Amino acid sequence: MTDAVTDAVIIGGGPVGLFMASLLLQRGLQVTVLEQRTGPEPHSRAIGIHPPALEALRQVGVDQELVRRGVPIRRGIALNCGTRLAEMSFARVSERFPFVLSLPQGRTEAVLEKRLQELDPDALRRGVRVDGLHDDGRQVTVQACRGGRAVSFAAPLVIAADGVRSAARAALGVPLRRRDYPDRYLMGDFVDGTGLGPDAALFLASGGIVESFPLPGKLRRWVVRLGPAAAGSAADAAWLAREVRRRTGVDVDPGSNSMLSGFGVRSRLARRMVAGRCILIGDAAHEISPIGGQGMSLGWLDALALAPLVPALVAGTRTGLPAFERHRMRQAARAARQSEINMALGRPLREGPLAARNSVLAAAAAVPAVNSFVARRFTMQ
Ligand SMILES: Cc1cc2nc3c(=O)[nH]c(=O)nc-3n(C[C@H](O)[C@H](O)[C@H](O)COP(=O)(O)OP(=O)(O)OC[C@H]3O[C@@H](n4cnc5c(N)ncnc54)[C@H](O)[C@@H]3O)c2cc1C
Repeated sequence: MTDAVTDAVIIGGGPVGLFMASLLLQRGLQVTVLEQRTGPEPHSRAIGIHPPALEALRQVGVDQELVRRGVPIRRGIALNCGTRLAEMSFARVSERFPFVLSLPQGRTEAVLEKRLQELDPDALRRGVRVDGLHDDGRQVTVQACRGGRAVSFAAPLVIAADGVRSAARAALGVPLRRRDYPDRYLMGDFVDGTGLGPDAALFLASGGIVESFPLPGKLRRWVVRLGPAAAGSAADAAWLAREVRRRTGVDVDPGSNSMLSGFGVRSRLARRMVAGRCILIGDAAHEISPIGGQGMSLGWLDALALAPLVPALVAGTRTGLPAFERHRMRQAARAARQSEINMALGRPLREGPLAARNSVLAAAAAVPAVNSFVARRFTMQ
C-alpha cells in the first residue's frame, strides 16, 4: 500500500532535510521526512556554522537556541612556532552574527529535530530506508523498506537530502563531477588547556597545518594534516597529542580525548540538482572538503532558496527552478574552490618556502581591506 503525501517527501533527516521540512511546514505544506537511522547520528562531523547559515536558521526560530548552546568564534589567529603571524576578526562580517558558531553537528541536529517535532510530530519517519524512485511526470513514488517490509510513498514533489551516498541521486542517474585529493586529516576533541579561549587557531607548521577550534564544555577540537607515513598507520589519541605538541608546542592531555576520527578529502558536485519532480539538496548535490567547514551551511542555503518555490512546484509550475539550480550549483563550485585554497594553505612546506609564504601572509593580513575580504570569503559571503 502507498502512503499519499499531499505536498512533498523529503528523503534524509540529516541537518539539511530537517531544516527543509521545518521551512515547508511553516509555509503550511504537508511533508514527510524519511530517515533510515532509528536514532541520532553518533559520529561527530561539522562544528562550524557560518553567519549566512545562522540567518537562514533564524527563519525557523532556532538561531538563538543554537547560539546559546554553542561557542561564538569571533576571531581566528594564525601562528607559527609560538609567533602570531596574523589575526582575522569576524566583527564586521555580519551585524546580527559577527562570528562563526561552533557546535557539534549532533547537537545542531537535535535542535532542528525538536523544532520539526513542534511543527508536526508525525513528519519524521525514522527507520525507513529509501531504495528507489519512480517519477511518472505527475507524481513521484518513493520505494522504501521499513523493518524488513517494503513500503512506498507518493507525492507531487521529492526533495532528496540523503547525503553523500544519495540513493535518490543514484536512482535518478544524476552524474557527478569528481575530484579526489591526497590530503588526509586526523581530528580529536580534548579538554582545552590552551588559554586560547573562544579563538580559532591555525598553526602553519612545516610538517603540515594544525587547526584548533573551541567547543562547548571547555573542549577543543584539534585537526592535524597527516603526512604519508601517518596516513597509512592507525594513529590514536596519544599520537595526535604528540603531533600537536611537536608541531605547535601546545600540550594536549591524551587522557581527556572524547572523540577521534580520521577523514580523507574529495569533492563530488552533481551536474544537475533538478530531475523531473525530484530535487537534490545538501551533500546529495555537493560534497565538498570539510576543511573550511562549509558543507552543512551550503546545504541549508539550498533549502532556504528552494522553500519559496515549493508551493508552485507542488502545483506543477516550475517558475524559478532553473535560476535556483544555476545559482546553487555556482555557490557549490565556489565553496569547493574555497576549500581547495584552505587545503593548499595547510600542506607541508620546507623551512625556506614556509618562512616566505608566512611573511607574505602576515603582510597581506596587515592590510585592513585584504583582511576583511578574506574574513568575508571565509564566512561564506
Ligand atoms: C569530518 C567532517 C567535518 C565537517 N565539518 C563541517 C563544518 O564544520 N561545517 C560544515 O558546514 N560542514 C562540515 N562538514 C560537512 C557536513 O557534515 C555535511 O555537509 C552535512 O552533514 C550535510 O548534511 P546533509 O543533511 O546534506 O547530509 P547528511 O548529514 O549526510 O544527512 C543525510 C541523512 O540522510 C539519511 N539517509 C541516507 N540515505 C538514506 C536512504 N536511502 N533512505 C533514508 N535516509 C537516508 C542519513 O541517515 C542521514 O541522516 C564536515 C564533514 C566531515 C566529514
